[in-house]
Amino acid sequence: MKSAPPKKCGACDGRGWLLMCNTDEAAFEIQRCDACERFSSDPQAQEFIARNKSTLVEALFEFCDAVLADAARAVNEKELSHTGMKCRMKMIRDSLQNAVDLHSKHKAKK
Ligand SMILES: [Zn+2]
Repeated sequence: MKSAPPKKCGACDGRGWLLMCNTDEAAFEIQRCDACERFSSDPQAQEFIARNKSTLVEALFEFCDAVLADAARAVNEKELSHTGMKCRMKMIRDSLQNAVDLHSKHKAKK
């Protein structure tokens, strides 16, 4: 039998989920924390966040921060070639889409 973890997970601060950059899609998305495995899958972590308004708002702010930080980093790196910009725009678009999907799960809940 699995007992509850006695300490907060250091990787996710006990939340069980993290905002990560999906390297395949090159976009930010909510993933479960692999360190504590509080959730069995990424969709399950996303469902949990969508169910609760305060976690949803928290997650949406993290999306904003992550996208803005990434854009600022790109500007600092002077990574402003046409291809680089297109790549960055796609990342922002896909990340925001992931955030919107999270919110629509909240609205769609029964
Ligand atoms: Zn964790």
